[in-house]
Amino acid sequence: MTKRYHIWTEGCQMNVADSLKLAAGLDRFGWQAVDAPETADLVVLNTCVVRESAEHRAVSHLGRLAAMKRKGNADFRIVVMGCMVGPKDDELRRRFPYVDHFARPQAFDGIFEALGLADDSGGEFWPTAFPTPTGPTAYVPIIHGCDKFCTYCIVPYRRGREQSRLLDEVVQEVAHLVHGGVREVTLLGQTVEAYGLDFEDKRPDLGDLMAAIHDLPNLERIRFLTSYPKDMTSKIVEAVRDLPKVTEFFNIPVQHGSDAVLQRMRRGYDTALFHDRVNLIRSMMPEASITTDIIVGFCGETEAEFDATLRLLEEVRFDKVHVAAYSPRPGTIAARRMQDDVPLEVKKQRLQAVEEVEERISSALNARLEGSDQEVLVEGRRDGRWFGRTRSNKLVHFAGEAAIGDVVTVRIEKTTAWSLQGTTADEALPLVL
Ligand code: SF4
Repeated sequence: MTKRYHIWTEGCQMNVADSLKLAAGLDRFGWQAVDAPETADLVVLNTCVVRESAEHRAVSHLGRLAAMKRKGNADFRIVVMGCMVGPKDDELRRRFPYVDHFARPQAFDGIFEALGLADDSGGEFWPTAFPTPTGPTAYVPIIHGCDKFCTYCIVPYRRGREQSRLLDEVVQEVAHLVHGGVREVTLLGQTVEAYGLDFEDKRPDLGDLMAAIHDLPNLERIRFLTSYPKDMTSKIVEAVRDLPKVTEFFNIPVQHGSDAVLQRMRRGYDTALFHDRVNLIRSMMPEASITTDIIVGFCGETEAEFDATLRLLEEVRFDKVHVAAYSPRPGTIAARRMQDDVPLEVKKQRLQAVEEVEERISSALNARLEGSDQEVLVEGRRDGRWFGRTRSNKLVHFAGEAAIGDVVTVRIEKTTAWSLQGTTADEALPLVL
């Protein structure tokens, strides 16, 4: 009888990519994906512990799975993988005795072994069925791990040191995806510009890799995530400018606007360096879209330090800001050596203040696009309207003739802080100026 699996994924794009890779491996053995865990033989929870809230969601999901099994209305094996699993899993085994196997991020081999499946691919599974759950877009991890050890972050302890994948292997994977109908790939790394720094002579780098996949026929767009300011070189920014398929979109987490806090976070740069990188991008691509991540309420954050963050947001005017309130992650330097001394109420107020600035600036930046024609890669259809993204990664809902995977021109008629709305340009009414 065909075996069935269900994968639940929490967290960043890297986790999404890991889940798809595991699914591709299980598909290779003839297993079948199902939506309902109670109908599965195997349930995998791909977890995230970067924020306390994400960890809580994983734990409560595990509780629901355990209850299903206890009541006897389900009979599946449970695998927990991802950032919840560290090098030692004794404590996890004690807390969750009903879990059959724990796997660190990308430790697929142990999962296959636990299932009695012989795998000799070294974890390199590529999807065989298209379209994949991410449709015409795909995430392709190019560098694993992180060497930066920011004081608040658990990732280096869970994903290990930076390790770049071989260029040929990435090119083959992207070619395979494009052959299956993928039109846009996002090259992924926790610090994506570090790609190649662990190779001899530090080459090939991210720019070389983007050039190597650029001319694949039918590949429409190349994106890359997530940028780390200090690893971003002018050579890489030039590659973004000069390679037409690479979109002019940068997600560069700054995390804070105060140099003292950046130092406490051990981010490895100051605000001057961050401004320098933003200026470099804008001098080469004035229309580039730049988004960022911000943490509020980090250990010892004073009112004046928080104001520096608000000032930085006003100065840079990001297209989008992802903001989170600091929560200590056990095992990190900050959790061991610093005081989580900003009251929860203050964290919430600061979070809201950042959201208000973000909404005002994003609204103004998006409003400038009203009346413009935008190239949109169609990703799907919902509530009678198509949706997709511009080259600058803005979400667009639109009416008109289209199909998933098409690149269409959309006349933008309405905007909010979060998305754009319009009609395909062929069908749009002429603008009355
Ligand atoms: Fe974590 Fe810092 Fe590495 Fe980003 S750069 S993954 S925040 S340690």
